[in-house]
Amino acid sequence: MTRFAPNPDFVLHLGSVRASILSHDYARMYNGSFIVRYEDTDPRLKKSVLEYYDLIREDLKWLECQWDEEYIQSDRISIYYEHVAKLLAQGSVYICTCSPENFRSRVTRGQACPCRGKTPVENLSDWEKMLTGGYQEGEAVVRIKTDLAHPNPAVRDWPALRVIDPQKHPHPRVGSKYWVWPLYNFSAAIDDHLMNISHIIRGKEHQTNELRQSYLYQHLGWSYPEAIHYGRLRTVGIKLSKSEMVREVEEGLVDGYADPRLATLAALRRRGYVPSTLRKLVYELGPRPVDASLSWENINALNRKEIDSAAHRYNAILDPVPLEVSNVDGSFEAHLPLHPSQPALGNRTLKVQAKDGTARLLLSRSDIELVSKSKVVRLMELFNVEVESASENMVRARFHSQDYMKARELKSPLIQWLPVDQHMPTRVVMPDASKTTGLVEEAILAEPGGAIVQMVRVGFGRIESKDPEVVIYFAHR
Ligand SMILES: [Zn+2]
Repeated sequence: MTRFAPNPDFVLHLGSVRASILSHDYARMYNGSFIVRYEDTDPRLKKSVLEYYDLIREDLKWLECQWDEEYIQSDRISIYYEHVAKLLAQGSVYICTCSPENFRSRVTRGQACPCRGKTPVENLSDWEKMLTGGYQEGEAVVRIKTDLAHPNPAVRDWPALRVIDPQKHPHPRVGSKYWVWPLYNFSAAIDDHLMNISHIIRGKEHQTNELRQSYLYQHLGWSYPEAIHYGRLRTVGIKLSKSEMVREVEEGLVDGYADPRLATLAALRRRGYVPSTLRKLVYELGPRPVDASLSWENINALNRKEIDSAAHRYNAILDPVPLEVSNVDGSFEAHLPLHPSQPALGNRTLKVQAKDGTARLLLSRSDIELVSKSKVVRLMELFNVEVESASENMVRARFHSQDYMKARELKSPLIQWLPVDQHMPTRVVMPDASKTTGLVEEAILAEPGGAIVQMVRVGFGRIESKDPEVVIYFAHR
């Protein structure tokens, strides 16, 4: 029995895939069950947002992590309260009304605060007062009794529940019903036991939490699940801080949670990354405790392998420049394969009709330099041309030959092109959210929305929409 326990204060992102995929796949390997648990008990600082509960479900389905049971902690507050009452009655916890500074200065010296010595009756009365709004925020917390001599002061008598003003900080699901909310370590620990979790797979930043929670388990006579702590992921050029991403969305610095600059699953999906890429990535990392590093280059190399064999090819001309070819006799049809190594997938056809011996075509501005340095270039699947002049705004050339072997002999570069009269406007949204406009083959309209394609010599991307223009989110080269 494993679990994945997101806080619905944001969508899932690259940093979430290791815990979710490992937990799900281990459960499947051993015919176990996989639980999704929404940890939404901080309406003040990590406030959940209603739409994210559903978006996380979408993310998990996309990741192929189908869950067997789902729980939402804000539905379970009375369960946490029942356990507090039991722990208070047996003297395992106490209501601490010291200021945080006072408490900290004592506990770092291994000293108990005066509240620790209260009788169960006094504690139960203070607990009632907490529940009914008798304490303001910061005035009272429930603390778990631990070893005050524990080498790590952060483990000593840790706080389990605290007051959050329900008028100032209503919860998006349960409104202003509760004055007292459990902190992460309390609700997660109670739930792991009540949900029969056998294996917890999570990052090693949770190791201290296991130490804290083990005291609670001792008080309740429970045994702690098997916990597997994997190492940190050092990312190069990828921002994985959720609080940073939430801030950027809230402040409008990015265009929502699916902005291509974010490493959210929604953004990756939009750009043409596939779940099998993330699963391979997670399997490579595994649950090893050593730290690992991750860069876009790693992810892109994996994704390229996953999508290359199925992505149809299309010529896209970004920032088009006209090309005039003289000495062209009649009309030509170029049959370009949808996939270079899979002829069975069929072809696209581009037609070129010369008028008065001149054919009018389009090239990408980014190819001007390459064209100007070459004597002869091959227009892919069409013919070879001899370059006469190449400026920023116009390329002139003369028909050279049709045979591809000629271009090979001359080591001519292969250039993608479009006829001047058969294309669709396109907008390519890059990973930095910049937009490049251009033209793409009309044949791309046969692709379903959401299809992953390769723009020849530009890179892979995913079709976001086709009307009135073709919008493609760029993935990688
Ligand atoms: Zn105290």
